[in-house]
Amino acid sequence: MVNKQIEARGIHDPNVLLAMGRVPRHLFVSEALMDQAYGDFPLPIGDQQTISQPYIVAEMTQALELKHEDRVLEIGTGSGYQAAVLAEIVFRVYTIERLHSLFIKTRRLFDSLRYYNIVTRYTDGTTGWKDESPFDAIIVTAGAPSIPKILIEQLAPGGRMVVPVGDRYSQELIKITKDEKGVRETNLGGCRFVKLVGEHGWKA
Ligand code: SAH
Repeated sequence: MVNKQIEARGIHDPNVLLAMGRVPRHLFVSEALMDQAYGDFPLPIGDQQTISQPYIVAEMTQALELKHEDRVLEIGTGSGYQAAVLAEIVFRVYTIERLHSLFIKTRRLFDSLRYYNIVTRYTDGTTGWKDESPFDAIIVTAGAPSIPKILIEQLAPGGRMVVPVGDRYSQELIKITKDEKGVRETNLGGCRFVKLVGEHGWKA
């Protein structure tokens, strides 16, 4: 998967390629879908949610320009696959899920795979995680109606954030960079995610 689908499509960050080679993606989907786990497409994970396509996980992770000592916040734990990829690279990952069943199932999976550097929380992630802020990087893995300003506030100086913005029909992946000159936005191209639902997201 890593050589044929990820590297061939232009992902070059060695940390990202190594991390994705290490995380056993088949353990993040149900038994019935395990034989499809290494294809480059999203898969259902229950509760009408999906585990993202591997290429998108690679692209978003690379865009975060991670260093080992970084602390990263993820909104939308889902299957836990993206968080596990992050946890292979950085010191600590904080991840928030709003659906209780997924939160419980994925927490157990992190424990069984010994991802002790992943801190999980069951709540609406659109308001971020103020007590643990600022973060070096923030990744939103559900589509927001607009860039949640409250998350930009929780980015450290020099921090990077990626967030899909748009409705169900058309979304763009936006990268935010925050430095002493201000906040910069780059459009990384089209993407497709389930809705970010919450106070600063879509209404349920
Ligand atoms: N990163 C996940 C992708 C899961 S799909 C993975 O690797 O599998 C997006 C997830 O975002 C879903 O589980 C959905 O329930 C969750 N989500 C949507 N809105 C949310 C919110 N406001 N706070 C936290 N999680 C949210």
